[in-house]
Amino acid sequence: MAKEGLLAVVSGFSGAGKGTIMKKLLKTHDGYALSISATTRKPRSEDKDGVTYFFKTKEEFESMIEKGELYEYASYQGNYYGTPKAYVDEQRQAGKDVLLEIEVQGAAKIKEKFPETILVFVTPPSAEILRDRLVGRGTETEEEIRGRLARAAEEAALMDRYDYILVNDDLDRAVEELDAYLHSDHKNKDNKEIIEKMNRELAAYVKGDTQL
Ligand code: 5GP
Repeated sequence: MAKEGLLAVVSGFSGAGKGTIMKKLLKTHDGYALSISATTRKPRSEDKDGVTYFFKTKEEFESMIEKGELYEYASYQGNYYGTPKAYVDEQRQAGKDVLLEIEVQGAAKIKEKFPETILVFVTPPSAEILRDRLVGRGTETEEEIRGRLARAAEEAALMDRYDYILVNDDLDRAVEELDAYLHSDHKNKDNKEIIEKMNRELAAYVKGDTQL
């Protein structure tokens, strides 16, 4: 029987580029599987049922909760998101290293259930770059951008729970670094500087000390 694969959670600010890093990691490295979450949010144009998410009604999702089919779930922007147990178990048993791309509340629940889980948080090098990426999408109003930065500031307060902080300044480098984090046995506790910087800079946006 294959050695059981490891479990890793990748969280990060919306606009930090974690989806792109994960996609590239899976394309260029063997042995990984990306967990497919269930959600009640509406599919976007790039979504495909059963590939990016399992799209569920509220009733279907609540039935999954009742039946104990999820390892964790959280409410995020008015929708449910959760990690189905079956796929994670299957893939780990087959020896794959399973990655969960989930937000901070879910990450905490997974760590509680599986203390050996490796937690990685993806951030751009500065709050200004994060703001630029949020504006760069071009679809958000100023109020929405403010809302996202305020949420980022809340998430930044939880960065110090993570084992590794992955600074996404160059895609290829970030992919290699993520692969190395998942396969190294020493934890990088050298995150203090970037955690303090992101917290300070995001707080300045929220307070209005830095102009949008
Ligand atoms: P989006 O709607 O943009 O695809 O995802 C919104 C947020 O939900 C992201 O931060 C994403 O990481 C998180 N998310 C996706 N799936 C899950 C899940 O199964 N559980 C939890 N807790 N969060 C999830």
